[in-house]
Formats: sequence, C-alpha cells, structure tokens
Amino acid sequence: MIDSSRSYAAHRDAELDPPIARDRFHLMPSPILGQDHTAYLVGNSLGLMPIGTREDMNADLDAWQNLAVRGYAHGDRPWMAYPLQLSGASARVVGALPDEVVITNGLTINLHLLLTSFYRPHGSRTKIVIEDYAFSSDSYAVRSHVAARGLDPDVDVLRLRPRAGEDSLRTEDVIATLREHGDSIATVLVGAVNYLSGEFMDVPAITRTVHDIGAIAGWDLAHAAGNVPLRMHDWDVDFAAWCSYKYLNSGPGSVSGAFIHERHLDDPDIPRLAGWWSNRPETRFRMDPILDPWTTAEAWSVSCSPVFIMSPALTSLRIFDEIGMERLHARSLELTAYLFALIDIAARDVDIQVITPREPDRHGAQVSIRVPVEPFALIESMYSTHGVLGDARNPDVIRLTPAPLYNTFEDVWRGVDALSRCLGGPRIAEG
Ligand SMILES: *Cc1c(COP(=O)(O)O)cnc(C)c1O
Repeated sequence: MIDSSRSYAAHRDAELDPPIARDRFHLMPSPILGQDHTAYLVGNSLGLMPIGTREDMNADLDAWQNLAVRGYAHGDRPWMAYPLQLSGASARVVGALPDEVVITNGLTINLHLLLTSFYRPHGSRTKIVIEDYAFSSDSYAVRSHVAARGLDPDVDVLRLRPRAGEDSLRTEDVIATLREHGDSIATVLVGAVNYLSGEFMDVPAITRTVHDIGAIAGWDLAHAAGNVPLRMHDWDVDFAAWCSYKYLNSGPGSVSGAFIHERHLDDPDIPRLAGWWSNRPETRFRMDPILDPWTTAEAWSVSCSPVFIMSPALTSLRIFDEIGMERLHARSLELTAYLFALIDIAARDVDIQVITPREPDRHGAQVSIRVPVEPFALIESMYSTHGVLGDARNPDVIRLTPAPLYNTFEDVWRGVDALSRCLGGPRIAEG
C-alpha cells in the first residue's frame, strides 16, 4: 500500500525524488486564485516551454537583424549548419547514428517523404500495416499513399486490432498477423507508443518479424521520442519519424525528425523526393540541374532550414543531453508507478479504468484512463475547478502524463485527486 496523502507526495518531491529539470521550464499559471501553477499533465500533447527558449530565439532574431543574408554562413549559429546541430542530439534521443537523422518539416510531411522511399508495392506485396487506432494523420497519410499508387486503401491497408474486450495489442498477436499476411505486406508503420492507449510496443521483436517476412519496418515515434528509451539503429529499424513539440518541448508545430537506417543511405534504388537542400552543401550553389545528394539522412531534406522553428528544438535538446534518456526514464517509471497506485485507490469509489499496460517496459509517461462521462467536459472541469490539466480523446478516454523532466509527485497527486472529485468521489487523502 502506498501512502496516498498529499504530504507524502510533497515529501518525495522535497526529499526522496526531487524533480530533475523543473527549474528549466516555465510552469503554466493556474486558473485558480491563489494557486501557484497548473498541475500540467499533458506534456504528451504539448511540452512546456523551456526557460532558455526565448533567449535563444532572440539570438537567432538578432542574427537576422544584424547579419541578414550573411547569417547563413556567419554568426554564432550559422543557418546553413543549423540542421547538423540538431541531428546529433536528436540521434542520442532515438538511439541512432548522427548521419541517420535529419530534422526538418512537420511529422506528417516526413511520413510522406519516407513512405515515398519505403512503401514500394510490387507484385502481390502491396499491403501497408498500421494500428487500427492509429493517430488519424498517420492513417490519412498511409491511405493516401496506397491510393496514389493506384491501389485500394480499403484492401491494402491492414489494421492491427486488439482482441475483443482488450485495449492494447499483444506482441504475439501482431507477430501472428504479420506472419499470416507475410507475402502480401510491403511496409509496416506503427506508433512505437500509441497516442490513445499509451502502449509501448515491442519494437525490436516486431521489427525482426517484419524483416523475417521480407517487409520494411517503420515506426512513428511521435509519442515515444523523449519519452522512452529507443535504439533505432541497434533494433535495425528501417525508418522512423517523430515530432518535437510533445515530449521534446520544442513548441507548437516545431520541426520533425526522421530516421533512415544507415544501410539505406546510399542505396541508389530507393526513390526520394528531392529539393535543393537534399544536395550536398559543397555543391548546392552550383545550382546544377542534376542532384548531388548528401550521403546522410540529410538527403531527405527538401527545403532550406526553417531556422525559427529549429531554434526552440535546439534549446530543448540541450536539456535532454544534460539529463540523458536513462535518468529521465528511471524518473518516469517512478512517477507512473505512483500514478497507477493512486488511480487504483480512486477506482474504489469512481468508475474509472486504466487502459495503458502496466508493465514497466510496455508504457511511457502517459497513462490513459477510461471514464464514465464525456471526457472533454471532465478535462475542462478538472482544469477550471482544480487547476489540473490533462487531455481527452474520443470516445471515453482521458490521458494523464507526468512528464519526467518537469512534473512532480504532487502534480500527480493533484491530478488523481481532481479526477476523483470531478467524478463525485472523495478526496484521495488529506493531510
Ligand atoms: C502528434 C502526432 C502527429 C501530428 O502530426 P503533425 O504532422 O506534426 O501535425 C502525427 N502522428 C502521430 C502518431 C502523432 O502522435
């Protein structure tokens, strides 16, 4: 039994498990008079703003103001070299070699560029596999690729479904489905951490099976990057993409990342959509009609670097480099264990049910909870009456996410207390 008192949560924060980088972030103000800050449990959707972001962005604005076009090659952070500053730190977050990572575009755009390269239906091998409850944008992207190749999305998109009455996928079922459809599958593109259930898939085991059946393994890391430990290179993943505004705290619509395994980087048979930024910088300004591509993942970049959305990504990645994914994940497991335990206490009085797998290697920071009321209204009332912010997803799920960089045990306590009380239950425990 855990001590469910608020004072125990405060004690863990003050003495036992102090936060690792909370002082590096702007905490969200609370809507409640006299309350210090919102218990922000929605870093799975939009991470908080690091304190260094504004100053770093100002430095880039100063370069534009003072150096104008010379800013591409001069100043402290020349714009031409900007992407390479990001790819090294991003590679450490996803477990890749620096040459395997490119930071550019939005996530769905990168998925399109990667699917152009890695979804190559031929003969009877035409199918692409996603989760049935994939993020909508991924489903649209995949279906549009199938249609663009003259195939039928209702036939050639294979959706992985949990067993009846279950909320997450079992690895053995995924593997069985892949083997069953083996010869007809061209590409697999699944979320490493599912946005709805919070399930962390067994990426290495599934990737091995995908390769066994002769298909290509891609992973969407939107909810995994900066959340769980990843080894894209060692797990032999073919390609992956992620956004940087969720756990990576780079601000709304900030740049996305793409991973392409080393073995594909100089394969001339892989189709790629190109632009002048796909060209090696040494020869770019010759403006030749024929591309001289990078031999790294930068070959997948197309347009010149969007410096002002890269700037906050750089600020945030510095924090990740200082803390390291291992330490971050160890703290994450402590916070989620506490969250699971408090939810179990609340569930004695109110009708809620955790749908995220509880095994430490099967979830990240996010815990998804099925609730007996309309979830968007519930989230709104938790915010307006308790200063707690989570988020809701159709039809009956809320997500509470203690982000290991900045959330505290007291934030978690406040989250579950607000949930219980907004559902008509008792306080978790006072004192
Ligand atoms: C957040 C998220 C997206 C959003 O895509 P954008 O192109 O960045 O708007 C797409 N897919 C998944 C799985 C996500 O979690």
